[in-house]
Amino acid sequence: MSTDYPYTGLLSRWEEIAEGLAIVGVQALQNPFPFNPGQYATLGLMGPDKLVQRPMSISSSADRLDEYEFFIRLVEGGEFTPLLWDRRVGDPINIKGAKGRFVLQDDDRTGLLVASGTGLAPFMSMIETLRDRRQTRDLVLLHGVSHDFDLAWRSQLEALVASGSFPVRYAGTVSRPQNCPDWTGLTGRVEAIVEGQLEEHRLTPENTTIYLCGNPDMIEAVEAMAAARGFPPEQVRKELYWPKGREH
Ligand SMILES: Cc1cc2nc3c(=O)[nH]c(=O)nc-3n(C[C@H](O)[C@H](O)[C@H](O)COP(=O)(O)OP(=O)(O)OC[C@H]3O[C@@H](n4cnc5c(N)ncnc54)[C@H](O)[C@@H]3O)c2cc1C
Repeated sequence: MSTDYPYTGLLSRWEEIAEGLAIVGVQALQNPFPFNPGQYATLGLMGPDKLVQRPMSISSSADRLDEYEFFIRLVEGGEFTPLLWDRRVGDPINIKGAKGRFVLQDDDRTGLLVASGTGLAPFMSMIETLRDRRQTRDLVLLHGVSHDFDLAWRSQLEALVASGSFPVRYAGTVSRPQNCPDWTGLTGRVEAIVEGQLEEHRLTPENTTIYLCGNPDMIEAVEAMAAARGFPPEQVRKELYWPKGREH
């Protein structure tokens, strides 16, 4: 591994929750940077001939700067993630931050948080930060994945809902239930369950702001549905993980 780049961080944690899907900890070697929940950091690793950098949403609380946490999918044939999957805990990594405007709006509406895949990351940071600050916010969190084992933080989120200590409602949905014999929850892509969840929780343009993160097709579909139901554009916030039409 090339170590000749003046790296700014250290890979401090690696939890591969399913093949090619990991919760990753990174420690900043010098002054940790502050961030707002929902923002992203830029991670960088030396490739064969250059530093390869990618934006990654931070999933940990904004009040815990000793380790930044990320939720990352390995993209086969990608430039950055295969380099990351070759690293080990203790290896250097570049980290800088933070950037982004995908943050909870200063309104008193319910937040409908819709994530596909690793798009759950910024929402975990929002929830963890609110809990650390003993603040509450009425939230409905929807997470769409291919398989039930991709539902990161599912048990923690279900326990949080059951505890009644924080006003969040949570639903996961799996798009390949044929591969999940134990799954009894919602099925289909997350964009397909949003309308039903709006009805079930009586979420309207008057009382709700929608936050969308992850796959651009999901974001486009929910945006169109929200517009048809009268949500003004400023009440539909979005973070696209890659440009539409660029599938791997
Ligand atoms: C603001 C922002 C925040 C991001 N946060 C995260 C994050 O928290 N976790 C994360 O895994 N990725 C995140 N991404 C995507 C990330 O920056 C990289 O694009 C991704 O890790 C792939 O990099 P790569 O170099 O391996 O592949 P590239 O060579 O860059 O190939 C990119 C292609 O991979 C596919 N792709 C990209 N991201 C994903 C993904 N997450 N899941 C499935 N397919 C994908 C797309 O088809 C895309 O065109 C974020 C992107 C943005 C813009």
